[in-house]
Amino acid sequence: MTARKLLTSALIVLLAALASPAWADPLRWNVPERVSQGHAFPVSAESSAPFAAVFSWLDGELAVNAEPAAAKDGKPSWKAEILLAVPLDAKGDLPLAVRVGGETENFSIRTLRVAWPQSILKVPPRYVQPPEDVQEKIARDREHSRKALALRTDRRWTLPLHRPVPGGITSPFGGRRVFNGQPRAPHKGTDLRSPEGAPVRAAADGTAVLVEDQYYGGITIYLDHGQGVFSVYCHLLQASVAMGEHVARGQVIARSGSTGRVTGAHLHFGFIVQGVSVDAMPLLSFPPAVTGGPSRSIAEKGRTPQKTSRRKK
Ligand SMILES: [Zn+2]
Repeated sequence: MTARKLLTSALIVLLAALASPAWADPLRWNVPERVSQGHAFPVSAESSAPFAAVFSWLDGELAVNAEPAAAKDGKPSWKAEILLAVPLDAKGDLPLAVRVGGETENFSIRTLRVAWPQSILKVPPRYVQPPEDVQEKIARDREHSRKALALRTDRRWTLPLHRPVPGGITSPFGGRRVFNGQPRAPHKGTDLRSPEGAPVRAAADGTAVLVEDQYYGGITIYLDHGQGVFSVYCHLLQASVAMGEHVARGQVIARSGSTGRVTGAHLHFGFIVQGVSVDAMPLLSFPPAVTGGPSRSIAEKGRTPQKTSRRKK
């Protein structure tokens, strides 16, 4: 072999080494095959070397740097993990694409239909047909909520979530609601039994990004848990955290009450993942349940589950 040939082959070896990514051993994926409507689900990729991943889901993209995880087979391990959500009205198969280095891994997630219950509620008429003079206030509330939910910060969410109050479910997530005989949007949170003045605790580590008295929600707190994951607490008697304050999982953030559009004292507990409202109840256990029907209410407890027929819409 001439010196020139030797140099060329050495160069080829060097170039090949440079071109092959650091995560050359195959990524280990953890992606569910099916997820029910209104559920959030964790997705992760793991490797023996650091990497960055870009997750494309619904209309959004989120870049995540892998973080050190527990060693696998004596090798170091790096994990990029994200929480994603299936909207309440999603149908069919939804595509998930994950870009790592120059490669894209494609997945298809089957969405399972859920037979959402219906709730008939009676509230003061001003909460069904808001008077003219509060329209501006409602629009302002919406704008504040939209701005808070647009934040994308570093991950602080952890599973399982901490149950904010011990009480049972009085009105489940996803219920189609009829207020004073008029149909309204489905319930975007879970109502938990909680007496006036009882402590309300943070579902996970986070930052208070909205603390205000809203027309429908009454005294409301939004906690930002990073990566577009937020928890929402409504109808509070009082908030004990200020805007921008960092809170720890399980920390008391408020007292429950009956402010805003309510039928009595309770906590409305919401959970929003990149703009999509999901049922928080399955996230109170770990691993979270990613399939299943609506979280059962107190009224339904003890009854044998009814067969749900597939209704055509
Ligand atoms: Zn509610």
